[in-house]
Amino acid sequence: MQNVGLPVAVIGAGPVGLAAAARLVERGVEPIVFEKGASVGASLLEWGHVRVFSPWKYNVDDAARRLLESQGWEAPNPDYLPNGKELVEEYLAPLGAVPSIRVGLKLGATVTAVTKKGLNKVSSAGRDEAPFVVRYSEDGLEHDVVVRAVIDASGTWSQPNPMGVHGLPVPGEQASTKISYGIPDVAGARRDEFLGKRTLVIGSGHSAINVAIALIDLQDIDPRTEIVWALRHQGVDRLLGGGLNDQLPERGALGLAAKKAMDDGRLNMLTSFCADAVIADGDRVTVRARTGSEPIELAVDQIVVTTGFRPDFSFLRELRVEVDPTVEAPSALSPLIDPNLHSCGTVPPHGVEELSHPENDFFIVGSKSYGRAPTFLMKTGYEQVRSIVAEIVGDYEAARRVELVLPETGVCSVDIKTAVSAGCCGGPAPAREDACCVADAVAKDEGKSGCGCGTKAAPVKVAESV
Ligand SMILES: Cc1cc2nc3c(=O)[nH]c(=O)nc-3n(C[C@H](O)[C@H](O)[C@H](O)COP(=O)(O)OP(=O)(O)OC[C@H]3O[C@@H](n4cnc5c(N)ncnc54)[C@H](O)[C@@H]3O)c2cc1C
Repeated sequence: MQNVGLPVAVIGAGPVGLAAAARLVERGVEPIVFEKGASVGASLLEWGHVRVFSPWKYNVDDAARRLLESQGWEAPNPDYLPNGKELVEEYLAPLGAVPSIRVGLKLGATVTAVTKKGLNKVSSAGRDEAPFVVRYSEDGLEHDVVVRAVIDASGTWSQPNPMGVHGLPVPGEQASTKISYGIPDVAGARRDEFLGKRTLVIGSGHSAINVAIALIDLQDIDPRTEIVWALRHQGVDRLLGGGLNDQLPERGALGLAAKKAMDDGRLNMLTSFCADAVIADGDRVTVRARTGSEPIELAVDQIVVTTGFRPDFSFLRELRVEVDPTVEAPSALSPLIDPNLHSCGTVPPHGVEELSHPENDFFIVGSKSYGRAPTFLMKTGYEQVRSIVAEIVGDYEAARRVELVLPETGVCSVDIKTAVSAGCCGGPAPAREDACCVADAVAKDEGKSGCGCGTKAAPVKVAESV
């Protein structure tokens, strides 16, 4: 434990950053929470119209609940599925207003750099003992704050992946005004741009399904609304796999609704899709692409790109951060969530040991800790920060204890005998297709904990793609 009298910096006032703040308060440590948005939960407000798959009982952190209840807060119906806006209004905003958090909450404060006091990245002498300096900009001015530890919960929402399958924007993409990223409110605030129009949706996660289903609602109002849904993969089995077995029923239902829309011919599906260029064409836009080796040209009114997100490490340049080169998650966590190895999106519980970096007392948590892996649940982040805050205050036993039980997705809960031949986890991963489920089942049959894929071991952490 170093620099005990100093506060701890939390970057980002999303659900995980605020849960970290609540844990710190409970442990008697002063948090300073930096939030670049004008309000807490700024990312969630950008997808405020989207209903989440996990009910309230999975979305509220235990320490946050205790803190809120001490202020007279009443928890929402545990089985209700809030949307992003409700998550902010009914949970995060009251949490940010708890006096012990509010006093250290800086809104409109963007962290631009973090370093060690008096030491650049190369300097090793005295490094572990030195506190951190967090630089942030607020109202156009730069400020420095000295803290004892840094918890980076800044998410990935503001760094969407581009259209190109190679990870780069395709020619014309950056200049186009017809492309939206994430989950635009196509049936609500931006309805006029999409009603009666032809939209190309690119992506194969639940966000893409969400947009496609919302556009189908518009098709009910104006049948001229046309939806072209382009997937990089060959098929949609993996995405739709959980279905009725999904213990988060709304998520399973979304997959089933998408399947029905496909069966009814309301979605024009393009598989093995690879965009090459976007060309402005009056009010429309032409997309040059390939489906497999077949060249195609599509004229559309709008493009929605939902191909995931990536973390921003730019402000961590002066710190000794170690992330896996493939997934960009902390090295020990990465093998548990690498989509090349795990098609199921289910990983074992983890805490400080998987989230540590060569830089002492620095941690990346929340959705950013998953790097480019498209699987994360709030509850996972709550367990991460419980463990990390315990470590920061020197409660090493609690930091290494696992306290997480989450619902199963259903997509991995298969019998080992069928797993080998049928391919489990809702369809094969790009490589080692059955490795996750088979290795998991074998390990559990041998009385070990497995990789967290199946139903026999408890507790099990389940994540899902969004
Ligand atoms: C559409 C959608 C649906 C989802 N559904 C579910 C679900 O059903 N269940 C579930 O458990 N999870 C769900 N998730 C996944 C995940 O739980 C959420 O993304 C959650 O918001 C992640 O929380 P976070 O605190 O890690 O990051 P965020 O909520 O993204 O918060 C990060 C915060 O950091 C701020 N920030 C970023 N950079 C800086 C900086 N440099 N300085 C200061 N502040 C900064 C941002 O403004 C933001 O407020 C969903 C995600 C999406 C996108």
